[in-house]
Amino acid sequence: MRACEILFASEKSSGDAVDISKIKVFTEENMANNIDDKETKDEEESKKESKDNNDEYEKYCYLCRRPESTAGPFITLPGNMHICNDCMQKSFDAFNSNQMQFIDLSHMPNINMSQFMPFDDIPKSQKVKKKKKKEEKEEETPLTLENIPAPHKIKAMLDEYVVGQEYAKKAMSVAVYNHYKRVITNTMDDIEIEKSNMLMLGPTGCGKTYLVKTIAKLLNVPLAITDATSLTEAGYIGDDVESILSKLLAVADNDVEKAERGIVFIDEIDKIAKKKETRSRDVSGESVQQGLLKIIEGAEVEVPVGSGSKNAMTPMTTMNTQNILFICGGAFPDIEDIIKERLSKQSSMGFNADLKDRFDDEPNLMKEVTVEDLRDFGMIPEFLGRLPVIFTLDALDKDMYVKILKEPKNAILKQYQKLLALDEVNLLFDDSAYEAIAEKAMEKKTGARALRAIIEKFMLDIMYEIPRDDSIGTVTITGDYINGKGSPIIELRGISAAGSK
Ligand code: ADP
Repeated sequence: MRACEILFASEKSSGDAVDISKIKVFTEENMANNIDDKETKDEEESKKESKDNNDEYEKYCYLCRRPESTAGPFITLPGNMHICNDCMQKSFDAFNSNQMQFIDLSHMPNINMSQFMPFDDIPKSQKVKKKKKKEEKEEETPLTLENIPAPHKIKAMLDEYVVGQEYAKKAMSVAVYNHYKRVITNTMDDIEIEKSNMLMLGPTGCGKTYLVKTIAKLLNVPLAITDATSLTEAGYIGDDVESILSKLLAVADNDVEKAERGIVFIDEIDKIAKKKETRSRDVSGESVQQGLLKIIEGAEVEVPVGSGSKNAMTPMTTMNTQNILFICGGAFPDIEDIIKERLSKQSSMGFNADLKDRFDDEPNLMKEVTVEDLRDFGMIPEFLGRLPVIFTLDALDKDMYVKILKEPKNAILKQYQKLLALDEVNLLFDDSAYEAIAEKAMEKKTGARALRAIIEKFMLDIMYEIPRDDSIGTVTITGDYINGKGSPIIELRGISAAGSK
């Protein structure tokens, strides 16, 4: 029997007489052949494509256009169409919630389905070149008892990058050393060594994150940095606590074993303090602390791979958090008031009046913090119990700002000096310049983070103007220039005379 559909080629649209020889008549038989042909062609193409993909091309999701390296493993549909798990899930959800209306077209002859499902538009290739993996990545040597640096060595390494914060560096070096000793030797049998999870307090921009980043780099362990403000109790809008582990897994290139020895830094931990006087459920405060208890203590957790959220299409893996080091950090604003109140209460016996403001001018009052103060602030006792190492970082003073500008191995001014040295120009800063930058940064009250913004502003002109004049040999930045009252001192090559720009 013949199929009812006859396709006229282009002649039909042009209105010419129909050339019978060009009419394609579809019998059931040749239609099947046609389909077979198409399928083998597709298969060949997809084989070819997958061969390409294996080498240097990356697949892109047909719907959301994200590459496989971002969206996780793809599902490949006939026609060489790649769909990511998230989009697949969304499509299922849409089907389930009846958002898709199906029209039965079977009774309508001559309907070309491709009008409704424009699969012809699918680009024949979804090829995008994969990013080259860093070749210079050296063979990573795992930590062993022999090569794990002793606390004084860890501190010496931290000293090269982090200015001041002596106590914090010491406390951290010891805690990290003990932690990895425990992990390496697996000494959990008779005397169980507790995890040295940490809680760092300190004003914004004083180097909390920087310390953790530096230590993870020095020890060559994966580090995931996450913000407690984005976390909510499971089932509410926001990230589940497991998303933290997904991040760590991603940083460790999905190597579960490597991730299980990593470090997790949870910033802004003070933002999940228990809310006072709330009638609604505290889904982003106390509940998150409760949720974190399990993973901080050490447990087997089901973790979505390649995506922060759990859904039916996301592959899951099990991670043991027993050997993951958790470091929490927060600015804990206003905790000074709680400390002040406690201290005045303790020492006031009978002299209430004149001792009330005794602690008002104390610059580093936060150092006196106790677990009770943190509890009063809104951290739950079970949570604090799992962070046995608690320490405070100093607020930065002018001296520290100047040192941050000058001393660290990769200090920002050194970076500019290196850039200009490539143009064979000497960049110098006199002492007044360092002080002026530090004073400006202090006014902003955002810690050392302010330095970069200030420096970039005045360096813009220098970086723009200097390369245009080959004769310039040395540029000296002065305090007046930073304060907008003068120009930098320019010295020409071979001539020692100083002149103004
Ligand atoms: P926070 O304490 O808010 O986490 P960061 O650690 O992110 O602050 O600090 C911001 C930037 O300031 C860091 O990237 C680093 O360059 C610089 N910085 C802050 N404190 C120090 C310090 N003590 N020594 C050297 N650089 C610092």
